[in-house]
Amino acid sequence: MNIPFNRVYLSGKEMEAISTALNSGKHCGNGQFVQKCEAFLREKYRIQKSYFTPSATAALEMATILADIQPGDEIIMPSYTFSSTANAFCLRGARPVFVDICADTLVMDHTQIEAKITSKTKALVPINYGGVSPDMDALMATAKKHNLMVIEDAAQGIGAKYKNKDVGSIAPISVFSFHETKSVSCGEGGALLLNDPSLEKLAQFAQEKGTDRSLVVAGLQNKYSWVSLGSSYLLSELLAAFLYTQLNDYDFILSLRGKVFDTYTSLFQKYVDHGSVKIQTIPADCATNYHGFYVIFPTEEKRDGFIGFMKQRGIWCYIGYLALHSSKMGREFCQSKDVLPVTEHVEKRIVRMPLHTEIKEAQLEFIAQSVKEYFHANP
Ligand SMILES: *Cc1c(COP(=O)(O)O)cnc(C)c1O
Repeated sequence: MNIPFNRVYLSGKEMEAISTALNSGKHCGNGQFVQKCEAFLREKYRIQKSYFTPSATAALEMATILADIQPGDEIIMPSYTFSSTANAFCLRGARPVFVDICADTLVMDHTQIEAKITSKTKALVPINYGGVSPDMDALMATAKKHNLMVIEDAAQGIGAKYKNKDVGSIAPISVFSFHETKSVSCGEGGALLLNDPSLEKLAQFAQEKGTDRSLVVAGLQNKYSWVSLGSSYLLSELLAAFLYTQLNDYDFILSLRGKVFDTYTSLFQKYVDHGSVKIQTIPADCATNYHGFYVIFPTEEKRDGFIGFMKQRGIWCYIGYLALHSSKMGREFCQSKDVLPVTEHVEKRIVRMPLHTEIKEAQLEFIAQSVKEYFHANP
């Protein structure tokens, strides 16, 4: 058996869509397929405006322009996240201020935010982890009280819900990723999702290298010039065509992922009941998109032992994030020597199980058998 941690879903319709884009003669950004993808996110997930970018990382960088991030600004975010969340702000000279996570969901603990707010705080940047959002209502209330911007790094969040709202439609700015490791992919891709009409014009400019070219395309002007900060934050039409086929199949992708997720939930429940491990909780007011399934072991040795045991059987499990605050770069940015006990506990003990659409029934059974053997030998 060889069961990879991740494999991309393919519908078989990709080549046709890509060749349509190829033959259209227009291959740069904001073409027909990008418009189709945008309409899809608007209709299905009630996201007011989407700007399709080369990655979620690029979308986060674009967000820092929209939020007018300046040198010296402080940005409150979890340490338990990907480097891109912090990098985007550091590139503008801002400083990440790290907050611990909730032990049951691994998303930013909103009760710890207020204590970290100073006169320099500019934005809150929660992340959606494995399809679960932090308490966005509480977070948005804190932001409102202190006049802060909220940018949700929802790179993993497409299709998930928080209090019946679609992830991506909640914060003024959010981002999605369409990287190969996410549940909807075009290889490398992302989107900036905007629910604040006052930022739409700047978003168009920032995406088009800081020019007002979009006004020329719309027939409103006959020449364009440099009007704002910006970069090349556009997704090629060829990749948008690939992405559109995936978006159209997303309900099917979710149903396949959901089956694997549910199998893991019932498989591990017995060991949760015995107190051997913990698994993720999905809060009652959240609906996951089955982005990931994780198990938390009581010690690092047990976690590493489990990964090794599964690997010998060709089952590829992985650890999660390594905390940013204790990383080489994180230490440079945080003079405060933050202690984030939950983050430090989790980073050493978490295992993520293979979760994708290509896991077949027989493979799931083999995984279940292997997990049972592991716990039999390591009660
Ligand atoms: C995957 C991921 C990113 C990066 O996405 P790219 O599209 O590869 O840039 C950023 N943040 C989080 C939370 C992620 O999971």
